[in-house]
This record gives sequence, C-alpha cells and structure tokens, in this order.
Amino acid sequence: MGSLCLYLEENGVRFLFDCGLTPSKPPKYPIKPPPVDLAFLTHAHIDHSGMIPWLCAQQGVDVIATQPTIDIGKMLLEDSVKVSSSEGYPVPYEKSDVRVMRRYFQEAAFDESVEVGNIEVMVHTAGHIPGAAMFELISGKSVLFTGDINTLDTHLVNGTSPVECDVLVIESTYSGRNHPPRSKTEYEFIEKTREVVERGGLAIIPAFAVGRSQEVLMILMNSDFEVWLDGMGRAVNREFVKMNEYVRSVEKLRKTMGRTRIVRNAAEREAIGLGQAVVTTSGMLDGGPVLDYLKERRNDPKSAVLLTGFQVEDTNGRRLLETGEIMYGETPMKIDCEVGFYDFSAHADHSELLRFVRECSPETVVLCHGDNREALAADLQAEDFTVISPEEGEMVNV
Ligand SMILES: [Zn+2]
Repeated sequence: MGSLCLYLEENGVRFLFDCGLTPSKPPKYPIKPPPVDLAFLTHAHIDHSGMIPWLCAQQGVDVIATQPTIDIGKMLLEDSVKVSSSEGYPVPYEKSDVRVMRRYFQEAAFDESVEVGNIEVMVHTAGHIPGAAMFELISGKSVLFTGDINTLDTHLVNGTSPVECDVLVIESTYSGRNHPPRSKTEYEFIEKTREVVERGGLAIIPAFAVGRSQEVLMILMNSDFEVWLDGMGRAVNREFVKMNEYVRSVEKLRKTMGRTRIVRNAAEREAIGLGQAVVTTSGMLDGGPVLDYLKERRNDPKSAVLLTGFQVEDTNGRRLLETGEIMYGETPMKIDCEVGFYDFSAHADHSELLRFVRECSPETVVLCHGDNREALAADLQAEDFTVISPEEGEMVNV
C-alpha cells in the first residue's frame, strides 16, 4: 500500500491531487511531481499529505483543502518530521516548511465549488475521516478524484455517495477484499474487551490518531469499565469536537470524550490498572505509547492486544500477528498477551467500490492506491467499463 500523488492536466491548467509519502521505516518518498499551478489535498493522512510541505516550499503553489484537513494535516506532518528525525531518517523538508505550508492552504467546504481559470471544481464529502473530500473537475469532461472513501456510515462520519462523472479516479485499497458486517465486528470487539477487563487483564487497543481512535472510543461508549485514551488521538479530539459540519455528531463525540479518561503523562500511564482498557497510538505498533504498554504487559496472558485495522507488511502489528513478537527498538520482544484483530476500516470494500463505480457511471475508471487492483479491474471490465491502472510515473490520456 503506497502513497498517492496524482498529476492532471486539463485545458492547459496543471493540477496535483494529493502528495503523500509511505510512512514505513525508512519512509518511502514518491517521484517528485512536475511543476503545477494548483494542488488539492483530499485528507490529512500522511500517505496523501506527507509531501505537501515539500510541494509548497519548492513550488509555492496554493493547496485547496477543507478546514479539518488543514488543521489535522499540520499536526500529523509536524509529528511525522519529528518522528523521522528522531529515528535518524532523512526528511525532504524541515519543520519550518510545515509552518510555512499553512500560508498556501485555501480553505474549501463541502458542496461548494472553486473556480480555476474556466474550470469549476466541486468539493464532495468522501466519508473516510472528518474533512476527507472528493474533488470533481467540471470542464469538458467531468473528472471525479475520490481520495480515500467510505460509503458506509460510521460513528464518526457519514458515508459518501456516488457522483456521476465521465472519468472516475478512485482508490482501490480493498480491491479483492470484503469487510465482515460492521455490527458483528463491533459486537465481538466489545465482548472481547469486556472479557479481558473482567478476567483482570489490560485491553491494549492500538488505533490511528486520526479517525480510528475516536471511532473505537465511540464503539466503547456504553461500556461499564474504564476506558483511557493515550497518544496523539488526544490532540486530534480537541480539534474534532470543534468541527460541527464535519463530524456526524459532535454531541456524541463530546459525550464519549466526557466518559473517556485521558492519560496525561508517563506517571499516569504507569498507574493504569488491570481491569481497564486503553486506546492508544500507533495503530500498527511502530511507535508511540502503545510500545510502553506492550513492554509492561508482555508477560501477562490475561492482557490482550486488540488490533483495530489492517496491518501493513513490515509493520510491528503484522509481525505480532504472524510471529507473536514485536521489535522494541532493535530487540525482538515476545508478547504473551492474547492478540485479536478487528476490521474497523474506513475504506469502502470490494463490493462497495463496485457499487460506487456503477452509480457514478463513468466511461473510464482509473484505479490507484491499492496493492491488488487487478481484482477490481477484472470485475469492472466484465461490466464493460474502460479501466486504467497506471504504474508510478506513468502518464495516461483519458
Ligand atoms: Zn486515508
């Protein structure tokens, strides 16, 4: 699963959609994009936003994004520079570039359009995380660029709806894979967390700071045990509760936060007792406070690590699932806790992607951002769609 950066030329205007990096160890940087006139950022996740500070510093172009993407993006990018530098990996820009980037952002809102020359760009909700947008270019042909999408409603955001277009540029992260029914996963997750808590263990729940931490806390909202939040999800919450138009129910999020206990420092982290649950970063165990919890509880079979999303290859999360070990710095560490996996993905799955494409009814579908695009391509071709799956750096005419 790589990062995304898409260049588009229309009526002589050069656009860039997203400019990300792969937050692996070491981070993988994309081919540097050619000069552009304007950029669009669909959402704050690093695999879409990671190179935006570089783009602003090098090219000085404006970047259109929604308010949550601007505010949360800055937070994630500052953290990404900090983490990469502390781990000794080269970063193609400085922390000061992240500050300067703020000046180039132009705020856009859902269901509003932006005029660029004689091209109109409509902003639609993508349903992936708060503020995640799809951009629709309306000139001769209409082109819809989805970024990451979710068609189903989650606790945190409402799902997206198809937009009729001529050319559809769509993510395909879950091509070839379907999610189990959400309500079943939620039920099993709540029951397992309760079981761990009742047997006197600590339920360690790794989750991404943006989106997943809040979603998981909302799922656990009515539980009768203590639920703690640690890591960057804390700062993200403080932003999300201000974003009335972008969160499904700010009231419900506030209520959830009202009953969630916040870990403020290392002393509080150590004081979290057994018989409780903690939601913490990072979601794939590659850093953050989750490693402290794992180290502390590694010999305790009553405790459990309940993973809340797909674990990418070469991450500690994947290693734990496959071998029962993680890397703590340079040292392998055996984890004797129970390990569980719950698919709370914020991406549309294979059947939802198919349905979405059908209802957008494009002539051409461009598949990007997926490890296994062939599966979706085959199903779409069988329905007579023209499908293009460009390689990195490849230019296509549509
Ligand atoms: Zn994303």
